[in-house]
Amino acid sequence: MSPITRDSKSGFRLPRPDGTAFRRCLLLACLLLLPVIAASSARANPSRRQSALASPTSPSEPFSVERFRPFRAEVPGPARTLGYEMGERHTTFRDQEAVLLAIQRAAADRVRVVEYGRSVEGRPLRLFAVSSPGNIQRLDDIQRRSRRLADPRGLSEAEAGGIVGQTPVIVWINHCIHGDETASFESAMWLLYTLAASDASEVTAALENAVVVLNPVFNPDGHERYVAYYNSVALGNPEGVAFEHSVPWAVWGRSNHYRFDMNRDKLAQSQVETRLETREYLNWYPQVFVDQHGQPETYFFPPNALPANRHVDRARVAKWTDAFGRANGAAFDAYGWSYVTRETFDLFYPGYLDSFTTLLGAVGMTYETDGGGTLARRRGDNTISTLRDAAQHHLVAALTTIRTAAANRASLLRDFHAYRKAALTLDPKDKLRRVAVVPGGDPGRAAELAALLVSVGVEVRETTGAFKSGRAHPYLPGEGTDGAKPQKRDFPPGTLIVELAQPQGRLARAFLEPDAELEPGFLKEQEERRRRNEKRGGNERREDYEFYDTTAWSLPLTHGVEAYWCEDTPPVASTLLKLQSHGTDRPWDHYVRLAAEGTVGVSGDDARAVAYLFDYSRDASAILALRLLQKDYRLAVATKPVRIGSREWPRGTILVRTARNPSTLPADLRDLSQALGVRVESVRSGYAEGGAGPGSDAFQDLRRPRIAVATGDGVGISAYGAVWYALDRAGISFSAVPVSRLRGRALDRFNVLILPDGNGYLEGFGKEGREDLRAWLQRGNAVLGLAGGGRWFADKDADLTTAKPVGAEEGEEESAGVEAVSPEAKGTDASRPLSLPGAIFRARVDAAHFLGWGYPAGVLPVYLSGDTFLRKSTTGANVVAFGKGPSRLSGFVWPDNTERLLSETAYVIDEPIGSGHALLYLDDPTFRALWPGVRRLFLSGVLFGPMRAPYFNPGE
Ligand SMILES: [Zn+2]
Repeated sequence: MSPITRDSKSGFRLPRPDGTAFRRCLLLACLLLLPVIAASSARANPSRRQSALASPTSPSEPFSVERFRPFRAEVPGPARTLGYEMGERHTTFRDQEAVLLAIQRAAADRVRVVEYGRSVEGRPLRLFAVSSPGNIQRLDDIQRRSRRLADPRGLSEAEAGGIVGQTPVIVWINHCIHGDETASFESAMWLLYTLAASDASEVTAALENAVVVLNPVFNPDGHERYVAYYNSVALGNPEGVAFEHSVPWAVWGRSNHYRFDMNRDKLAQSQVETRLETREYLNWYPQVFVDQHGQPETYFFPPNALPANRHVDRARVAKWTDAFGRANGAAFDAYGWSYVTRETFDLFYPGYLDSFTTLLGAVGMTYETDGGGTLARRRGDNTISTLRDAAQHHLVAALTTIRTAAANRASLLRDFHAYRKAALTLDPKDKLRRVAVVPGGDPGRAAELAALLVSVGVEVRETTGAFKSGRAHPYLPGEGTDGAKPQKRDFPPGTLIVELAQPQGRLARAFLEPDAELEPGFLKEQEERRRRNEKRGGNERREDYEFYDTTAWSLPLTHGVEAYWCEDTPPVASTLLKLQSHGTDRPWDHYVRLAAEGTVGVSGDDARAVAYLFDYSRDASAILALRLLQKDYRLAVATKPVRIGSREWPRGTILVRTARNPSTLPADLRDLSQALGVRVESVRSGYAEGGAGPGSDAFQDLRRPRIAVATGDGVGISAYGAVWYALDRAGISFSAVPVSRLRGRALDRFNVLILPDGNGYLEGFGKEGREDLRAWLQRGNAVLGLAGGGRWFADKDADLTTAKPVGAEEGEEESAGVEAVSPEAKGTDASRPLSLPGAIFRARVDAAHFLGWGYPAGVLPVYLSGDTFLRKSTTGANVVAFGKGPSRLSGFVWPDNTERLLSETAYVIDEPIGSGHALLYLDDPTFRALWPGVRRLFLSGVLFGPMRAPYFNPGE
């Protein structure tokens, strides 16, 4: 599977055939002939230009940083430290660090450095704040003022006016969140140098009115992985077929250490780099935020494509993106550089940096430069784009943006304040006024949601008294209802509430609303494209739809918590939640503490315990069981309800017998249950009143999971990363094994095999490998196939399930494992699902099946994207399935297609094979670390999948 997507912001699983953007042949000489613009070049134009930033005398005149002369001699330019000019080579992290710190030391009057944490691999994360010496001296005060405008409660108009009148605008330039979009990394050094060293009045005047916060590399681990490899093979060859233009699977540099796309992660806040940057962001609250990317064929800056998230204040965004767009356009026109606006890049999904920061009140903008990643590449029209060109384009756009912001300082501050202030007043049209989350059976998951919200600056309160709502709407309405009709409901003390009338209310709304609105004009256009596509002949190319990313992400649904949105806000006593720690540790740790003080750990007297029990109501119970098994303790699980002592224990209850385990058990159990937030009960007698007790044959032994996760070609890189992160975060160890090595005896080292989303399994295993896999399953092992890792089970050559894709019966034979044509190019007849950009549906769970244990409600919100729906298995268990009739909870669906075809189809299937299990998950429960609500479906597959039937069955 090609890791390259059609553009840099996209993560929409549209793998681009290799080389579409990097084609044709070339002369290496072209590159060598390009003039190198040295910082010391004598060709530099010595004249000082006051009128337009970096404006040349004619469009043919090349750009040079020399335009910003004079430079302060004591400040070392990047070339002086590096020994080469901009774009001649790819700079490594430590070399960039040397350049930046040398500039900062020499220009400390203008530059302050802030280290805000470390990446997963331990690289320092830094910001460089640049402004006039006077502003730098009062930088803390400027930050305080910006935060004050961001929280306008109790701030009079006169006080706000005072701040607006005397405070510089804060402009944040973010570099290299995608590690292989390297022009941004290179331009960071020249941007800092220009701002810190130039005495040109256009620079110094801008710094009087603006504080520039420069983040030179958001994703140092991905960048370093990529450039260390690229530098080792680079020839500077621009041809798409050249060796240096494709990188090995493991080297893919877009993502961070865990292979997460961090320009999708602002919603889940899963990665440490994301969390640390968010925490630092909230200290500054910039008014302008630029997120630099690469590398489409033509430079992009806003105005954006449709759709825009409703809560950004679309009029505000239109006004400011037009102002910045015009300024960037004029600067690019002056050099004759090409650019594009209003295409492709939208502002809808709130997990991007541009939409996230816009929701917080900044003018958040994505800039995509037209090169980089390699030293040179050939465009479609045969011209060559170089790393140096691409870095210069970013540099000019950043400087133009800074200068434009400085010129509009007061107006930007005023609009920022107005946007934040408007969030305090509820619009009469907005019925969503309070969100209430009832912690219920798994308070850990409710607290995980609360911790996420608090970490992005949303105020969450825990009620200390009960309250009644007269107009509450459940996020997960019962079957046959759509939740539109308000209900009366009593909420107990301990309910978590979010009042939408708060400074961060717009972001809270975007994260929490059940459904995000797409502009009617955008929807109409997609419907028209569908109509035109349906009229086209079988071989005609079909129009693409314009969905850029998913259309559903409502956090109460992704977290699977019992939640309501309320039209009323009756007063209730409550306390404000605070994180115990923020950013540096794993969210797992702090949310557990927040949720479960006093109710976790081992109850009773260890010394006299014959056994310990814990129920399976929390995700953390699954993790505790897996951790204990991987420490070689022996555990059993109740396969049916069982009475022990005075209590009935439900299915999924875990039993740990003292006599069958080493003496270290009580201490380990105490520590782990405390750390994970699980309540464990000790049992002092094996004799039960009116029940079988812990000796019951309801208990089945669990095996220590020996887990392999498939890696390498054919496996989605981000998909592997999501599984890796999910297991690592839970403290569960596994082996990563290339698909090609999952053969014969190697398989017997494992009893659980996880296949992340991917499209190369059928060929990856090959005929022999598939036979080995089947034999291994028959011996009592389990395979978990996630999304594409499971969909291929239905292929006739795999034959691991009797489930079949909807629409496959009528059409030609299709391979479920191979996506030969894009979804848009496939037929659009009424029997086939149209591809979903991503929506949330209500599904039914069989709570009696081991995958459904711990889901007593029987219904669950689940995520689905793509165009594969599955008819139910006729031989296995359809553990999670869609009911009859409408099941959409959130997101875009195709009218008269999606819900009609999804009715009564399967979502999670257990196909028994011999004494083993092929577990098929139609979509990926680990996707973007955004789906705690279905986490246990995944963990239960790992924990219970390798269970074998008891060796002794009475009556046989
Ligand atoms: Zn990018």
